[in-house]
Amino acid sequence: MRELLLVLDEGTTSTRAMLFAPSGECLGSNAAELTQHYPGPGLVEHDAAEIWSRTFACAQAMVAKAGGPGAIAAIGITNQRETIVFWDKKTGEPLAPAIVWQDRRSAALCRQWREAGEEPGVQARTGLLLDPYFSGTKIAWAMANWPQLREAGDRLAIGTVESWLVWKLTGGLHITDATNASRTLLMGLGSGGWSDGLLDMFSAPRDALPEIVDCAGRFGTTKLFGGEIPICGLAGDQQAATIGQACFAKGETKATYGTGAFVLTNAGTTPPASKHRLLATVLWQLGSRRTYAIEGSVFVAGSLIQWLRDSIGLIETASETEALARSVPDNGGVYLVPALSGLGAPWWEPDARASLSGLSFSSTRAHIVRAALEAMALQSHDLKTAFAADGADWARLRVDGGMVANDWMAQDLADMLGIPVDRPAFAETTALGAAMLAGVGCGLFRDLEAAAQMRGPGTTFEPQLDVDARKARIEGWNAAVERVVR
Ligand code: ADP
Repeated sequence: MRELLLVLDEGTTSTRAMLFAPSGECLGSNAAELTQHYPGPGLVEHDAAEIWSRTFACAQAMVAKAGGPGAIAAIGITNQRETIVFWDKKTGEPLAPAIVWQDRRSAALCRQWREAGEEPGVQARTGLLLDPYFSGTKIAWAMANWPQLREAGDRLAIGTVESWLVWKLTGGLHITDATNASRTLLMGLGSGGWSDGLLDMFSAPRDALPEIVDCAGRFGTTKLFGGEIPICGLAGDQQAATIGQACFAKGETKATYGTGAFVLTNAGTTPPASKHRLLATVLWQLGSRRTYAIEGSVFVAGSLIQWLRDSIGLIETASETEALARSVPDNGGVYLVPALSGLGAPWWEPDARASLSGLSFSSTRAHIVRAALEAMALQSHDLKTAFAADGADWARLRVDGGMVANDWMAQDLADMLGIPVDRPAFAETTALGAAMLAGVGCGLFRDLEAAAQMRGPGTTFEPQLDVDARKARIEGWNAAVERVVR
């Protein structure tokens, strides 16, 4: 019987295929690294042909594991967002490198638009800011600098990574889901399709862009695995994780602590407008109706631990940070503001630099490591304050990502935020969310609530720290941040 769900989870550094049973049990997983190309300072590119070939190879392994395409009910795709691919509709081959979300090449363009006073209007329409992060700015740069794109004329196709994968899987279906489309700067947050004014601003040819579709449905089928498999679920990775954490009601919030940290709060069915430089984005679109999220990101989370390990040599493994943090009763007055690549929301200070402050002869390696872990809860506290000011305070927080394997950090989050923190036993919430959408799209589940049966049990961390200790730490942190953003 067809009941397994195949997820393609295309990340920044690796691509993966995972196989799920409707119970949520993960039956197998196969990953491959993706080559990172850094052709110059601030430039990050991927080879779209490699993304496709490695993703396909991983998928083939999982189809074999399932016992053939006949056992698979549907494919769900989730992807690194904002990365943009350019290809030839006739040959199906890339026309240029894929420009990765981290790439800053459109910074000068963004500055020009901001100086021309464009940002408030763009934010009101899209929920986003004029930052190189977003795909539209990358398209504008590419159309101006890569003549082969203009020369391709009506053969040019442009899309985010899920769009590229669907094209390759189906042999020419050109669609994108509304969550990915909502990260391009080309789609009005509240309305149906691409906006003419925004397409003009970012020099994006309408005919090159995909059709915007729901996150679940029967979009098309692939025949590449020796039998037909429908593609039924599509969502950007952070939206998929929010769905995988079952944040279905307004106000429900998830935070992923990986290389960076991403927080999304379900904002209901009216497009939100942030007054505190948070992003407004589509959380999902089902039956042509959109549900929205407010999103905030912290640029440096797990990468701080990697930096302490690889560049500073303070630790040998990420996991030893837990015992080190526990080995001292407090931070001893030490604060680490991890602005190693500027400060993200709610500060948005690209030029801020990190600081380690409050050191004395009694400070030890353990204090510094503890300060590094404490920075996660403190940055989260800053975000919570900004979300609350935008009318989206958190009552509890569902966490995932590689860092929350650290029990000390999960408890510290609960303590500093003053709310319960829930951690699922199955940490791959992004893939789970894509599986849930595929399950809804193919009719295996009636709706997302029914699909939530795929989620397993979890652990809750209750806040324990007393109010005064919490207040003192936040004051110390605020003073340290002020010195960095000044
Ligand atoms: P990504 O998906 O962004 O690649 P992951 O979710 O896999 O990241 O998380 C990996 C990050 O988590 C790494 O930066 C690593 O330093 C950090 N990390 C892993 N285990 C721990 C731990 N026990 N304590 C603190 N940080 C950890």
